[in-house]
Amino acid sequence: MTESNETEKTQTFEINNAITVTDLAQRVGANPVEVIKNLMRMGIMASLNDAIDFEVASPIAQFYGYTIKLTSSESDSPQTATASDSSNESEGQEARSPVVTVLGHVDHGKTSILDALRKTTIADREAGGITQHIGAYQFSASSGNNITFLDTPGHEAFTTLRARGARVTDIAILVVSADDGVMPQTLEAIDHAKAADVPLVVAINKIDLPDADPERIKRQLSEQELLVEDWGGDVLSVEVSAKTGQGLEDLMESTLLLAEILELKANPNSLVHGTVIEAELNAQKGPLATVLIQSGTLKIGDNILVGNVWGRVRAMTNHLGEAISEAPPSTPVRVLGLPEVPQPGEILEQVETEKEAKFISAERIEKDQPSSTQPASLEQLANQIGMGEIEDVNIIIKADVQGSLEAVRGSVQKANSESARANILHSDVGSITESDVLLATASGATIMGFNSKVESAALRLANNRGIEVRNYTTIYQLIDDLNNTLKGMVSPLLEEVHQGQAEIKEIFTINKIKIAGCVVTEGVIRKDSMARIIRQKETIFEGPIMSLRHFRDEVKEVITGQECGIALTEFGEFMEGDFISTFTQEEKAR
Ligand code: GDP
Repeated sequence: MTESNETEKTQTFEINNAITVTDLAQRVGANPVEVIKNLMRMGIMASLNDAIDFEVASPIAQFYGYTIKLTSSESDSPQTATASDSSNESEGQEARSPVVTVLGHVDHGKTSILDALRKTTIADREAGGITQHIGAYQFSASSGNNITFLDTPGHEAFTTLRARGARVTDIAILVVSADDGVMPQTLEAIDHAKAADVPLVVAINKIDLPDADPERIKRQLSEQELLVEDWGGDVLSVEVSAKTGQGLEDLMESTLLLAEILELKANPNSLVHGTVIEAELNAQKGPLATVLIQSGTLKIGDNILVGNVWGRVRAMTNHLGEAISEAPPSTPVRVLGLPEVPQPGEILEQVETEKEAKFISAERIEKDQPSSTQPASLEQLANQIGMGEIEDVNIIIKADVQGSLEAVRGSVQKANSESARANILHSDVGSITESDVLLATASGATIMGFNSKVESAALRLANNRGIEVRNYTTIYQLIDDLNNTLKGMVSPLLEEVHQGQAEIKEIFTINKIKIAGCVVTEGVIRKDSMARIIRQKETIFEGPIMSLRHFRDEVKEVITGQECGIALTEFGEFMEGDFISTFTQEEKAR
C-alpha cells in the first residue's frame, strides 16, 4: 500500500489488492468499529487485522467520501482473509463463540435480560426447548452465530470464578437501568470488569418506561471514563427492554461484533481444556459438572482430570438437556463421569490415556496442589518489589466518608517510587465487603481501609483466602506503609494492644480546652496511649492524648476506679456517657 500522489482534496488513495480493516479505518478517518459494522451490513464478517480486498474496501471508502485505486506494483500485498483466517503462530485456531457474563446494579434487569434472551432465542427457534439450569447456556443470534451466556449474573459470581484462577468471561454486558442511572454496583461492576481486563457492552435497559433517559446514562458513564460511541468513545451501547424485547437482537449483534473485534479463537483439535462452572451431586447419576470447554473438543470416553480427581466422560448433555457426543470450544456441557463433585472454577483437562490420568492424579495428591489464588500481603509485595519481580501494587481502597476517600486516593496516586507504582483497582465509601475480598483475591490486591468497618463475612473470607486487610485511622500511616512497600521495604506490622476504658461523667473547659471528666471503668489509662471515643458503641474519633490529670496533677497513668480528666490533641466534642477506650500500637514479630 503506497501513499497517493493526489491532493488531499480529491481524497483518493491507493492500495495493493487488499487492506486491513484497521488501516482502512485510519485512511478514511473512521472508527474501526464503524467500519466493521458497515462490513457486517454487507454480509462480511471481518476483524481488525483481517485484510479485505479492493472490491470490498471500495464501497466502504466511498461511504466515507474516499476513492481507492489499485496500484500496479506487485509488491507484497497483504493476503485477503476471511474471519476464520489463521496466522502461522496460531495454527489450528478457529473462531469461537464469545462467553458472556451479565453485570450491573441490583434490579437493573440482569436476570430479566437473560430470561428474555432465552425466550426470544431458544424457545422460538429450537421448537419449544426449555433450558435446563446448568450454569451456562449457548444460543444463536439471528445471524446464526452463537453466544455462550454464564447464567449467574452479577460481579460477585464473575469475580468468584476469577478468584479461583479461572479466566472464563470474554465480554461483560453491563446492564444499567435507563430510569435509575449509574449506581454503586454499576461502578463496582465496571471496576471488576476492568480489573479482569474484560471489555464491556453497555445495555441500557427498561427503555419502555416513560421516565427512561438513555442520554443521562451515557453522560454518567462518560464521567466514569466509559465512553460509548455517541460520546466519541468505542464502547458499544444498546438500548433495550427486557420487558418488550426491544433491542435484544441488537444487543446480541453488538456482542458478536465485539467478539469479532477481539478475534476470539480456540483450537478445536487440541487436548481439551475447560473450566467447571457449576457442579452438584445428583441422587441418581452421581457427580455432575457443568464445564465450559475453552479449547479442544470433549467427547464421550475422553479421560479427564479436575485437580487431582480423574474420570472418564460417560455422558454429556447440553443446556437443553439433550444428549450430545461432542462439545467444541465455548460450549457449556454437563458432564457425567467424575467420581467426585468438583468446585466451580476448577480446571478440567483432558489426558490421552487412563494411565497418564492416574499418574498425574497420584502425583498431585502427593504434592497436595497449592491453591491457584495468590494472596498478596504488603510484606510479600515489598519483598517482590525489592527483588525486582513486580512493578505494580494493586490496591482496593475503602473509606468512611467521601472526603477522606478523595484524600486517600489523592495521596495514593502520588505515592509512586522509582521501582513500583500503586494501581487502584477499586475505591469506594463504605464497609469492606466480601465483593472487595473476592476482587482482591482475583487480582492479587491488598485492601486498605481508612476508618472502614470490615463486614464479618468479609473478614472470614479474607482470613480464609489469606487476603490482607489493613485498616488505618491516619492517612499518614496508610501512605507511609504504601510508600515503604513501593520502595521494597517491609513496614513493621502493628498490633493494637488494649489498655483500658473510662466513662465520661462531665465536661469542663479550662483555658478554652475541653476536658472530659471520667471514671476509669477498666484497666489503666496511660498518657502515652492512643484514645478512641466511643459513642453508642460507634467509634467517632481516634487520636493521641494531650493531657491526663488526676485531680490537679498531670499524671502518667490512672487505674480502674479512679477519676481523671482527659484532653485530646485533636478532639473536644465530648458528650456525657461517651467512653474513652485506650490502646497502644506495638510492633508485632513477623
Ligand atoms: P436484577 O437484580 O438486575 O437481576 O434485576 P431483575 O431482572 O430481577 O429485574 C428487576 C425488576 O425490574 C423486575 O421487577 C423486572 O420485572 C423489572 N424489569 C427488568 N427489565 C425491565 C424492562 O426492560 N422494563 C421494565 N419496565 N421493567 C423491567
